Amino acid sequence: TKWVYDFSEGNKDQKDLLGGKGANLAEMTNLGLPVPPGFTITTDACRFYLEHGSTPPDLSDEVTEHLTALEKAMGKTLGDPSDPLLVSVRSGAAASMPGMMETVLNVGLNDESVQGLATQSGSDRFAWDSYRRLIQMFGKTVQGIDGELFDEALDEVKREQGTELDLDLDAEHLQDVVRRFKEIVKQHTDRDFPQDPREQMDLAINAVFDSWNSDRAILYRRRERIPGDAGTAVNVVAMVFGNLGMDSGTGVAFTRDPGSGEQGVYGDYLQNAQGEDVVAGIRNTVALTELEQIDKDAYDELLQTMSTLESHYRDLCDIEFTIERNKLWMLQTRVGKRTAGAAFRIATQLVDEGLIDMDEAVRRVTGDQLAQLMFPRFTEGGDAKKLTQGMNASPGAAVGKAVFSSEAAVEQAQNGEKVILVRRETNPDDLAGMIAAQGVLTSRGGKTSHAAVVARGMGKTCVCGAEELQVDTKAKKFTAPDGTEVTEGDVISIDGSTGKVWLGEVPVEPSSVVRYFEGEVDPEADDTEALVNSVHRILTHADSRRRLDVRTNADTPEDSARARRFGAHGIGLCRTEHMFLGDRRQLVEKLILAEGDDDRQAALDGLAPLQKQDFVEIFEAMDGLPVTVRLLDPPLHEFLPDLTDLSVRVAVAEAEGHPDEANLRLLAAVRRLHEQNPMLGLRGVRLGLVVPGLFAMQVRAIVEAACERKKAGGDPRPEIMIPLVGAVQELEAIREETEQVIASVCEEHGAEIRPLIGTMIEVPRAALTAAEIAHSAEFFSFGTNDLTQMTWGFSRDDVEAAFFHAYLDKGIFGISPFESLDLDGVGRLVRVAAREGREARPELKLGICGEHGGDPESVHFFHEVGLDYVSCSPFRVPVARLEAGRAAL
Ligand code: PEP
Ligand code: MG
Repeated sequence: TKWVYDFSEGNKDQKDLLGGKGANLAEMTNLGLPVPPGFTITTDACRFYLEHGSTPPDLSDEVTEHLTALEKAMGKTLGDPSDPLLVSVRSGAAASMPGMMETVLNVGLNDESVQGLATQSGSDRFAWDSYRRLIQMFGKTVQGIDGELFDEALDEVKREQGTELDLDLDAEHLQDVVRRFKEIVKQHTDRDFPQDPREQMDLAINAVFDSWNSDRAILYRRRERIPGDAGTAVNVVAMVFGNLGMDSGTGVAFTRDPGSGEQGVYGDYLQNAQGEDVVAGIRNTVALTELEQIDKDAYDELLQTMSTLESHYRDLCDIEFTIERNKLWMLQTRVGKRTAGAAFRIATQLVDEGLIDMDEAVRRVTGDQLAQLMFPRFTEGGDAKKLTQGMNASPGAAVGKAVFSSEAAVEQAQNGEKVILVRRETNPDDLAGMIAAQGVLTSRGGKTSHAAVVARGMGKTCVCGAEELQVDTKAKKFTAPDGTEVTEGDVISIDGSTGKVWLGEVPVEPSSVVRYFEGEVDPEADDTEALVNSVHRILTHADSRRRLDVRTNADTPEDSARARRFGAHGIGLCRTEHMFLGDRRQLVEKLILAEGDDDRQAALDGLAPLQKQDFVEIFEAMDGLPVTVRLLDPPLHEFLPDLTDLSVRVAVAEAEGHPDEANLRLLAAVRRLHEQNPMLGLRGVRLGLVVPGLFAMQVRAIVEAACERKKAGGDPRPEIMIPLVGAVQELEAIREETEQVIASVCEEHGAEIRPLIGTMIEVPRAALTAAEIAHSAEFFSFGTNDLTQMTWGFSRDDVEAAFFHAYLDKGIFGISPFESLDLDGVGRLVRVAAREGREARPELKLGICGEHGGDPESVHFFHEVGLDYVSCSPFRVPVARLEAGRAAL
């Protein structure tokens, strides 16, 4: 194995071997840019060291070889007493881990060579300052001495000299500092500070290897999901000095503004300083443009270098540089991080500059970035007080008065108040309140809890599972961990992108990108924000590339119309249960309580026209596009009062001596329908098989609505979807009934409507018997919420808040499987069902309508397994369009 690479031997694509810093230093060297000579010890060597507790046997010889070459290039020898070569020993892993690992500067200085450095540099002060920095860094990172001991000693000398500034210390004072530092080293290591330059270097290299496993590095990797076994490379670089006087300095720069994408000169510069002084903020930096006045030649060369880097990397780069006595040196570069807005703008700028094509521009941005651009944002400032942080369930920034019931939300919203609905958890009864509110805050429930799913569907800001809050809806208040009480009417702010909750108003601004999607902004007008134009161009190109269709999950005409404006090509999931709420609840109650066929039919007859009208409006909003209507899915008891609440009411009435007959009957029904595991109980297709007439009523409403639209000159395209099927026999029974209803409605209306009849695949058994089920289904739509719930055995309403944090901490998975599809398990079921379903019925249409339909990584998977479309909430539609385009490239 080759353990060491000279900078001239590597390139930017060797990050895994040379680390990010090493690979880019090599790239710059080969571009002919002014990089100080040096070499990189590979991550292989680090892994060997971590595994065996010692460096590879032949590493030392290789290092010697490369050090000799370095010495030759510099015309100096490491630690030479009369004219020493000094080196820095720097960490650099493949994945950027800013500040997590160690670096030692000025390696090669000792009691003798400090004199040589003084002579050569013409500055005693500089030489002694460099030496004290070496001992300080070496003592701390290599020898493990508490860094504060050095800080204290330095402060003491400053105190004795009556100053607070390092710069006020002269050579003699610094010599005194060195003496004290060496004393500290001796005391804590039982030996003198190592004088042998090579020993210093070797120890520093091992210390960098060791720093891979420092506590903070491990913690950082766990949070950023960086593999723990990658190891770091070590770069040994000839020192250049930014602290040799006012003609020297150090700085950082970006080739474009990483905040906005704007072109220009962005960066900071600090005269007479070394890199760590900038980070430590010891003195104030100046804007990079001022370097033009300070040192015009170096400035010009820097701009030239930055432009070389941009056209070479074809992207925004960030750099670190040093100027040593008017000579520019490049110490680091990498493709720079940027905000979501800058990512879009830079991508189209680079297209316009001819550096990349539109395909590449689409690759350069992500759905997550687009999603960020769609949220209204909290701006900085204001004097709101942070109360807690819950789960970031549905992004956005919402401000309003806290209210604690759906009714209060509706009432106050009607009076023109902005409100935030605060609940322990929400249920379908809260829907009206959620619609009326600016945002929703719950103290229980995870990211697929009712509140979260519904809020995302509506594009409504939601923070859920804020468990530190004690919510008392009866007393209309909640209590924060610090004891702050928030009562009805107090203004709070919630950030659905971060989960943060404040007391008071944090200022917000609307998103221009959403205004564009809504059709309120012409993306090509001259005065349109550049960002909107970039988004428009990139999304249009993604659309031209994608193979997946994008539909939406919507069950109101308003959501349907909005999703259509956002680019949805039809509805993939219309959940009919949302149409059973509100005033219709009583009719549903009647249906459940019906004692005979006549009673039941009367209840169904009451519901039918209302259902039909819903569908008429949705078909109109989606005219000419497919609308997949799912027949009723949730257990019926969800439409009845809570068992405990009702029991209490009945008991109280009885105790007061006027028992309530109606409530008694209701209570009996609630008891009869009560289930220990309702999610595994009487729901979905099972309802259709057990409650006579229910599905038939819904099918009739769908087909009648379609007939009516047709008569009005419309082009309705209904598809009928049966939920929770596990066996083909279930589907066959419902299909037969459905086809009969369709035929008779068509005959009554003299119309020809022929909806596709299909099923959801959301029970593992359905996925495993997809071939049989396909015989009776014209389409499959994967219900990945339930499929995840049932494959993992995770209650989707409970587990996220209950223990997912522990699972995430322990690395059992990196992200909730309810958020991003578990490709290995649930994904395997999807793959099998798609393949075997298509084998049985080649024209089988395949879609997905679980929450994963709007998740970027999952979209790529659905593209890969050959689905026809993904369906997601209206606000995720642009995200899915973009990711479907990216998946196809
Ligand atoms: C699903 O289970 O993925 C699905 C879309 O249905 P619901 O979320 O309504 O159960
Ligand atoms: Mg489901």
